[in-house]
Amino acid sequence: MKTLGLIGGMSWESTVIYYQHMNRMVRSQLGGLHSARLLLWSFDFQEIEKDQASGDWEAASGKMCDAAKRLKAAGADAIVICTNTMHKMADQVEAASGLPLIHIADTTAKAIKRKGLSKVGLLATRYTMEEDFYKGRLIEKHGLEVVIPNEENRAIVHDIIYNELCQGIIKNSSKENYKIVIQSLINQGAEGIVLGCTEIGLLIKQQDVAAPVFDTTLIHAQEAIAFSLG
Ligand code: GLU
Repeated sequence: MKTLGLIGGMSWESTVIYYQHMNRMVRSQLGGLHSARLLLWSFDFQEIEKDQASGDWEAASGKMCDAAKRLKAAGADAIVICTNTMHKMADQVEAASGLPLIHIADTTAKAIKRKGLSKVGLLATRYTMEEDFYKGRLIEKHGLEVVIPNEENRAIVHDIIYNELCQGIIKNSSKENYKIVIQSLINQGAEGIVLGCTEIGLLIKQQDVAAPVFDTTLIHAQEAIAFSLG
């Protein structure tokens, strides 16, 4: 079994899901007392969020690269960034660590294609929905069509992530708001919905949505374990 180096804590509310899901998958595949071989670097998310909100992506990237180097020094065989947003600096992290990086957008694209879909709606942080590092990768590298919410709805989705989900706050009213935004994406032709932020699965489940849902946390964790068990 290969050792996965997780860069997490962004937020820990979703890192705990990665940890649990990875261990459960190894147990179900290998049985008995088997569990995942993991190293975890868990950030104080307040420090990362400060860099994001002020647009200091260079500082954020420096912190991410430093974490990746520490994981390599500790014996990691591959890097798993446990957030969609921080894949913004995936290339730098991969280069700094010299380790393979299991990219969340690639694993998600594979899952979408396995379902035979070509057009998806993306719910995520403002950075992930608006910038090219993620959406662009789905479109250019994987040939998918991606629709995102309008500006007002993007603000709603983004604010709920930081003000509620990353702080462990799960509200019914927010679930209803998300369902309205999801319906607007389906009305724009989305055949499936990508939960492109690792905390959204805390709020939205498959049964809440009429179209197939792609929970990036679970998909990414599963693909990382497939790599580990090789
Ligand atoms: N975990 C979230 C994501 O998947 C948002 C928090 C972050 O900015 O990393 O994008």
